[in-house]
Amino acid sequence: MLDDIARLLEIQRRDAEILSFREEEEKLIADLSRREGILDRTKRELEGRREERRKMAMSRDEGQLDLDSKLESVKKLELQLFQLKTNKEYQALQREIGVLKEACTDIEDRILNFMEDIERVNSEIKERDKSVAEMEAGIAKAAENLDRDKGRVTAEIHRLDGEKRIIGSSVDQLLMARYEKILSHYGSRAIVLVVDDVCQGCYTNLPRHTVDEIRVSEKPILCENCARILYLDDHEGRDSES
Ligand SMILES: [Zn+2]
Repeated sequence: MLDDIARLLEIQRRDAEILSFREEEEKLIADLSRREGILDRTKRELEGRREERRKMAMSRDEGQLDLDSKLESVKKLELQLFQLKTNKEYQALQREIGVLKEACTDIEDRILNFMEDIERVNSEIKERDKSVAEMEAGIAKAAENLDRDKGRVTAEIHRLDGEKRIIGSSVDQLLMARYEKILSHYGSRAIVLVVDDVCQGCYTNLPRHTVDEIRVSEKPILCENCARILYLDDHEGRDSES
């Protein structure tokens, strides 16, 4: 039994290593997908800014067309001024020209505003293009790291699994099956130490007879609370026996 416990502990040590390899890999995968999420969001925002710029340029061009046609009208009306006979007609046309010129000034202001906005959006787009490029480079590097790591982790897990199989082949098969079942339930630590009559898996105080049983039984003793396999440290065993 003691030999089996020692072997299970060896197996558990390898399972802990396998778990930490998997967690390390999961972290890399999570980091990569976090970066990809940010990149996607940034690209969508960038697309939105480009669309905004396109609309502003369209409004600027429409304004320019409107301005050109109004300026043309002003020119025509100013020519007509010379052909007018009465002062009244002259003043009426002057007023019309004045209104048109004011409208032109408004349009010019609007065009200038659009141009300023476009310039601002242009520099924003330029900045974001730069960060997208940086993000893409970072993601490529992270993906490369992950690929390399996957290869390493697969090899390490393969090695540890092999060692587990060799050690496990000399463990009682029922006990081995129980160990695997508890491990798959908790994810780690299927076999735990008892310290001062306390299960180190769930920290429940174990009845005295359970602790005594661990010492003498040929069968594995499980914690009544968490069902993990219990063992006593040799050193502790000698201490409490003396
Ligand atoms: Zn327990």
